[in-house]
Amino acid sequence: MPIVAIVGRPNVGKSTLFNRLVGRKLALVDDRPGVTRDRREGEVRLGHLRFRILDTAGLEEAEADSLAGRMRAQTEAAIAEADAVLFVIDARAGLLPADQPFAELVRRADKPVILLANKAEGGAGMAGAYEAFALGLGDPVPLSAEHGEGMGDLLDALEAVLPEQDDDDDEEGGEGKPLKVAIVGRPNAGKSTLINRMLGEDRLLVGPEAGITRDSISLDWEWRGRRIKLHDTAGMRRRARIDDKLEKLAVSDGLRAVRFAEVVVVLLDATIPFEKQDLTIVDLVESEGRALVMGLNKWDLVADQPGLLKDLREKATRLLPQVRGAAVVPLSGLAGEGIDKLMHAVTSTAEVWNRRISTAKINQWLSEATQANPPPAVSGRRVKIRYATQVKSRPPHFALFGNQLDALPKSYTRYLVNSLREAFELPGVPIRLSLRTSK
Ligand code: GDP
Repeated sequence: MPIVAIVGRPNVGKSTLFNRLVGRKLALVDDRPGVTRDRREGEVRLGHLRFRILDTAGLEEAEADSLAGRMRAQTEAAIAEADAVLFVIDARAGLLPADQPFAELVRRADKPVILLANKAEGGAGMAGAYEAFALGLGDPVPLSAEHGEGMGDLLDALEAVLPEQDDDDDEEGGEGKPLKVAIVGRPNAGKSTLINRMLGEDRLLVGPEAGITRDSISLDWEWRGRRIKLHDTAGMRRRARIDDKLEKLAVSDGLRAVRFAEVVVVLLDATIPFEKQDLTIVDLVESEGRALVMGLNKWDLVADQPGLLKDLREKATRLLPQVRGAAVVPLSGLAGEGIDKLMHAVTSTAEVWNRRISTAKINQWLSEATQANPPPAVSGRRVKIRYATQVKSRPPHFALFGNQLDALPKSYTRYLVNSLREAFELPGVPIRLSLRTSK
């Protein structure tokens, strides 16, 4: 089992994080002064990850005179033992001189480091996170150990650095975690037919009449050695026969599917594309921050294929600016054509959704983008964007730091989002942008 060490100066919240991860308050072994309480260990299950965690927080109660040296030794030992290091700072306090010796130890060790900006509940403490970039330990992950916020991002970060783990229910030939994919669309768009074709068996009911009763389910599949979990929403047509009721059902079922998925395939009937319901689903994909691929089903019924494809790709760009560049893939579930292309689009959009871009590259982009098109002055004062970084992935989320950013017009932030999308090739995913203004 891999070992992860929690490192940082006193009071940044290491114990709270330890307790949060281990899931229960570990009784201290002994409370008498002088007894070794230097280190706690626990076993953690976070998502599908399992690891041992080492904490050096017990030292904080040690006598002040001996503290520095012992804490240093303990920290060195923990780092030496660990496969990865969680270096914790207090995002509210910002970076203090006391953080530096620990940062130095971490930096010197040749181990993967995850920089955690703790006490950032409710988005607080971004100023501290900003300062933390200066440590040169990568992008800080904001979290609140006390409130349990940001644990998903911590999981993502750990996943990227810990050695691959044997998962008991790992299928042979499968690679990593299954990719969660939902196929959504209007009744009769051909979802069940497509899923049946993917799975290669008649597991689902298919019928021309809307209203066949079936529950939403998730199905395990494998595409080119990659494990996929398919969620299908044939439930969207469940029981409903009256139009407005159908629409309501479609939205709630669609929402469930969208929340389940990492990549959402909106399956359009190419003979009647882009109906209101399809656009509603795309809005859900955007608001839920998922990746989007458009499937044009029943392509076998289309006479002028090149003409329609061109038309629909234009329409997609116009109608779906939130997820600009989403792949539009013609296919036929019935004939089993285009499924490979669809899955290529799904996996590559998933990759974009998960992508991490280095802070150096983002700041390079920032200087070019603001030179090409400088931010407008607001009430006579120049708006200055000093710094940018990616704070999250899934979907890509960037933060800008500077003066008076709240006053930036929407048109300008839109320009920045489009420019980010182009510069880093981020098609088919929502892009989030946060503005952090300092006085
Ligand atoms: P769902 O409600 O979205 O699950 O749609 P179904 O899979 O039940 O399909 C509805 C109807 O469309 C059925 O009659 C299918 O045979 C038909 N259909 C599905 N995919 C295709 C396709 O690629 N081409 C053609 N021509 N018909 C299709």
